[in-house]
Amino acid sequence: MKPPRRLVPCPTCNRPAAWDPDNRFRPFCSERCKLIDLGQWAQDRYAIPLAQELPPPPEDAPWGN
Ligand SMILES: [Zn+2]
Repeated sequence: MKPPRRLVPCPTCNRPAAWDPDNRFRPFCSERCKLIDLGQWAQDRYAIPLAQELPPPPEDAPWGN
């Protein structure tokens, strides 16, 4: 008797994905969802330092001589 296939919700699309050695994209349901999630993660990483550099220090102009 084979154990039942374990399903996990895909982090990208929330559809059940097989947690199984056959599913090399686990915990994602497909390669597409895996790439989407990795892309969002990479964008978040780049967005954090950019957002912190954007506002210029306002006190620099009057005191900067
Ligand atoms: Zn998915």
